[in-house]
Amino acid sequence: MTNGNSILSSFGTTIFEVMSRLAQEHNAVNLGQGFPDGNGPDDVVEAGVDYLRNGVNQYPSMFGIPDLRQAVAEHAERFYGLSIDWQRETMVTSGGTEALGASLLGLIEPGDEVILIEPLYDSYLPIVQRGGGVAKLVRLKPPNWELSRAELEAAFSNKTKLILVNTPMNPCAKVFNLEELEFIAALCQKHDAFAVCDEVYEHLAFDGEPHIPMITIPGMRDRTIRIQSAGKIFSLTGWKVGMITASPDVLTPIAKAHQYLTFTTPPNLQAAVAFGLRKDDAYFEELNSDMQARRDHLADGLRDVGFGVIPCQGTYFLTTDFRPLGYNGTDTDFCKYLTVEAGVAAVPVSAFYTSGEEGYFARFSFCKKAETIDEAIRRLKAHFG
Ligand code: GLN
Repeated sequence: MTNGNSILSSFGTTIFEVMSRLAQEHNAVNLGQGFPDGNGPDDVVEAGVDYLRNGVNQYPSMFGIPDLRQAVAEHAERFYGLSIDWQRETMVTSGGTEALGASLLGLIEPGDEVILIEPLYDSYLPIVQRGGGVAKLVRLKPPNWELSRAELEAAFSNKTKLILVNTPMNPCAKVFNLEELEFIAALCQKHDAFAVCDEVYEHLAFDGEPHIPMITIPGMRDRTIRIQSAGKIFSLTGWKVGMITASPDVLTPIAKAHQYLTFTTPPNLQAAVAFGLRKDDAYFEELNSDMQARRDHLADGLRDVGFGVIPCQGTYFLTTDFRPLGYNGTDTDFCKYLTVEAGVAAVPVSAFYTSGEEGYFARFSFCKKAETIDEAIRRLKAHFG
């Protein structure tokens, strides 16, 4: 009888799975896990069907099909004015999750320090630790999610291998501005560190504020790993097509991890994503304005119910303060209670902290149909009266 790996075994089941299972058991409206309840753009889905039928079904190159890699470079030029050599600087992965995993496992040496910003996405810490990295945590707190320059500076050392930056940031819906990115960039350059940038919500920065990729900041072109996800760009989260852009010397060690993790990603979906990335500007504008409208729809409803709603600059998520409703337990208890008793699932924000933040904040996803949001609000109003 052997035990599992001690690092991975020390983590429980991820909160997204826990809350989605509970939602299913209790027939709750699931505003917990962040996935749209629509079926994505018809033409992208149709392209996928065509490529499945017409024989794009065998192992492609481990770097991805040329058409998608070219489309990634064209997209970067169109939206950010970046000039990318698709043959040497792009790689397709099985989702943003694998892109993160391959980047961290490919770059970290045991004992390297890795700076993570809390609240953090579920996969970051386990993979950093499994890769032998030593996490240095910097904490952002609701309701302002302000980045302390002093704390960030103190987290860097001569052992820092990389910082992981997620913008627009899940779950706090913060979009890093130019000044913050420049501050982080200067520290990376001073300490010769990489920036692994999780930009899966790049097209979901709201209110006309731009998403700024770290790779565009002067001095960061050759030390940034930019990560994208087709799941978020096309509201097709189950597709699991991710994309990495990095300079050749940085991409090479990441490819060494990727080749043994998944090696490739379904080529038919890659081809459909290539088609999607070339859609006209109107598609991307509509995705953004549509999601912003859903944000406002859910925020208004939650405010009506009595929640405190924290400003949301991007992503799929709203953070709310449930104290005004008179609930006195922890956020974990509140989200379970809400799922079971009110029939609406949310995710406790403390799940995104390593310790000590059992607070009174719940995260709700608004990437849902209007009728789904309406039904959730109807149930919450009925419950809280
Ligand atoms: N990114 C999604 C969220 O934050 C969930 C992804 C997942 O379940 N792994 O809800």
